[in-house]
Amino acid sequence: MTSVQAEIGVFGGSGFYQFLEDAETVQVETPYGMTSCDITIGTVAGRRVAFLPRHGYNHSIPPHLINYRANVWAFKKLGVTRVISPCAAGSLQKYVRPGSFVICDQYVDRTNSRKDTFYDGPIATHVSAADPYCPEMRQYAIDAARACGIEHHPEGTVVVIQGPRFSTRAESNWFRTQGWEVINMTQYPEAHLVKELEMCVVNVSLITDYDTGIPGVEPVSHEEVLKVFADNNEKLKNLLFKLIEILPPHRENCVCGQVLSHSRV
Ligand SMILES: [Zn+2]
Repeated sequence: MTSVQAEIGVFGGSGFYQFLEDAETVQVETPYGMTSCDITIGTVAGRRVAFLPRHGYNHSIPPHLINYRANVWAFKKLGVTRVISPCAAGSLQKYVRPGSFVICDQYVDRTNSRKDTFYDGPIATHVSAADPYCPEMRQYAIDAARACGIEHHPEGTVVVIQGPRFSTRAESNWFRTQGWEVINMTQYPEAHLVKELEMCVVNVSLITDYDTGIPGVEPVSHEEVLKVFADNNEKLKNLLFKLIEILPPHRENCVCGQVLSHSRV
């Protein structure tokens, strides 16, 4: 066990280190191999926060090759109890506009062959995914988005595809006609693995563009996508700092910390 501890973990945020007070970098060993990169720990609003960019420092690890188990395990080992899991994402619905954020409350797993559990036996462990995100953290994230004046949707379903390819038009139409709002490549198994280790998890999806295009909406240019991406990062920084500031020191209204007592037969 490393001596450095953190109470909040953030997947992503390589652009935020410059804002951290007394930042230090640690390497965390896990039974599952290497994390995506070293973890930076610093103080935000008086809280110890660990940042781990899931794609590595240079964005060199594609979504299907991320060692999700190692990344999540490392946060647990550092003492993290709350995990913030922002991600860039596409929109499947016209009303979910590029530049807006979605605080998702559900996901649909369309990945394959990813290692998506810590529990390979011998104790049979079936962790519920009915409500995959922490209701308490979701509410604080919504409050933070509102306080920062960020256009956001307080709920939504993210479809997680395997990647690295994008969807076909047929796939995208299928997802859209189901009524799902957001598409991404990393929320699964990341969010579920966090839950398996009894930590709280909240997603913030940063909408960059429309997936394969939306009927009646002009496709956005590459320049526009880059501008939205940059603006989203600035908004995310504000939201993260506000969320960390208002998050109560202890978990009060969720059962994320007792997941395993309901999961074993
Ligand atoms: Zn919780």
